[in-house]
Amino acid sequence: MKKIEHIGIAVKDIDESNKLFKALFGKKHYKIEEVESEGVKTSFFKAGPNKIELLEATTEDSPIAKFIEKKGEGIHHIAFAVEDIENEMKRLEKEGFRLINKKPKEGADNKLVAFLHPKSTNGVLIELCQERD
Ligand code: ZN
Repeated sequence: MKKIEHIGIAVKDIDESNKLFKALFGKKHYKIEEVESEGVKTSFFKAGPNKIELLEATTEDSPIAKFIEKKGEGIHHIAFAVEDIENEMKRLEKEGFRLINKKPKEGADNKLVAFLHPKSTNGVLIELCQERD
């Protein structure tokens, strides 16, 4: 793993949260993107070299809707940048981690992504992401 790529925060109302985070960071989001396959609308903020992703559910059965129902708004996942996502997935599976995705899939922000099940990572949902070229 190279570094933390971003931290994902589940929110109920992304328009309201965009205002809040704009006030927090002193500048607005640089990107809004809907990932239909995941049932989410996302926005991205930069604070220096760090990125925050806000996620709002667009469908009732979206993973974000379920998360908020169970735990409320808050930190949803930590994403790590990886060089080669397929290799990293194989390595982690061998180490005994539970992968939610068997194959990398398209995520927001031009990335290939895969998630590790929080049951195998001390309750933290971990996203692996590889920059697509
Ligand atoms: Zn993410």
